[in-house]
Amino acid sequence: MDNPFQNAMAQLDKVAKITKAKNFSPELLARLREPDRDIRIAIPVEMDDGSLKIFEGYRVEYNNALGPYKGGIRYHPGTNIEEVKALAFWMTLKCAVAGIPMGGGKGGITVDPKALSKSELERLSRGWVRKLADVLGPRKDVPAPDLNTTPEIMAWMNDEFMKLIGEKTGATFTGKPIEKGGSEGREQATGMGGYYVFEALRKRMKLPAKCAVAVQGFGNVGRNAARVFAEQGHTIVAVSDSKSGIYATGGLDINKILEYKKITGGLKDFPGAKNITNEELLELSCDLLIPAAFENQITAENADKIKAKAILELANGPTTPEADEILWGKIEIPYEKGIWIIPDILANSGGVTVSYFEWEQNLKGEHWSQEEVFGKLKEKMKDAAEKVFERTLAHKTHLRMGAFILALESISERM
Ligand code: NAD
Repeated sequence: MDNPFQNAMAQLDKVAKITKAKNFSPELLARLREPDRDIRIAIPVEMDDGSLKIFEGYRVEYNNALGPYKGGIRYHPGTNIEEVKALAFWMTLKCAVAGIPMGGGKGGITVDPKALSKSELERLSRGWVRKLADVLGPRKDVPAPDLNTTPEIMAWMNDEFMKLIGEKTGATFTGKPIEKGGSEGREQATGMGGYYVFEALRKRMKLPAKCAVAVQGFGNVGRNAARVFAEQGHTIVAVSDSKSGIYATGGLDINKILEYKKITGGLKDFPGAKNITNEELLELSCDLLIPAAFENQITAENADKIKAKAILELANGPTTPEADEILWGKIEIPYEKGIWIIPDILANSGGVTVSYFEWEQNLKGEHWSQEEVFGKLKEKMKDAAEKVFERTLAHKTHLRMGAFILALESISERM
């Protein structure tokens, strides 16, 4: 299925089936099938040539049982309300899995940001805030960056919001630059958190101490994940961006790739590496595959060609429910034969966890060191990974279902 919201609901149906003995109430499941509110906006932007263009934007506030709505804003030409709804649903579960007092939301604009000048991008970002200011706020709804949105964009948005509302804490947007109230470690948080989750589960997945790792996507999440895995002694055998990928069995130097990409604009023909396609990257023989780009990358079409021993989902929704079934294998006792999938709502929850730390620092007027941030992050990720593993074993199921069960337990208790 290409519709991410239908995929998300298929996952919810699956967990309802598995846990029938345990009974999450039908009312809870029904509540979680609809967002509290989904908002579509039209954002008029004056272009540099003096013309006016209207962009479509969104904010979905899915569920706030655990705290203020929280979730990133995505700029992409393919972004639509169904995608934003799915991402907001996953955010609801993700905050619960990570054990942070936040609810789930998500936002976006249908736009190719690369086609806009910097000043057009700033006017568009400020326009999104002007249309939504009434529903945002540190105790109501706290947005953050996602695909193609940067700390600079968060700073513009926060500035616009503070001007409009007179809010002074700066806690309404997270992922800001450090000098504008951002947290140390936010940029690395999703990759770093993914690494902590992986390390907490590595031995249980019977993976070697030094893994061969392939990373799809070389943006904020992918490049930071590649860097931290390499720093911890794992070998990055392949990376890719939207245009192409590169592969070297002996390992790739991430810092050199970053320099190369800055000069050439891409990864193609990186010295000492073989050019590969994104499809080939997904099908490489390796210990760990990290999808860190986009949803719907591992599907019924390619799932049976995946040779990695485990998948760490740093992107949101990279694996479709049909692909889950193929990868898990038809097994009673978990993981005797199937491929391990560390699900997005656990694997990439480091991003929202450090966003929550940023919110807390802004509200208290504090600034924590990077060491303190990563120390707290490690503790939270380890705790979440262990709790998910416990649920997985107790229900003789898979990690995605284990994570859903953990999330539904804490949401249902609060609701
Ligand atoms: P980004 O815009 O910084 O980077 C995206 C990367 O993916 C780029 O390298 C781009 O070239 C590549 N890409 C795009 N389409 C691709 C395709 N079809 N095939 C291969 N590569 C492709 O975005 P990001 O913040 O790194 O987000 C990546 C994923 O991680 C998204 O699914 C996002 O929702 C998820 N995520 C991000 C955060 C965060 O903190 N930024 C947190 C949790 C989850």
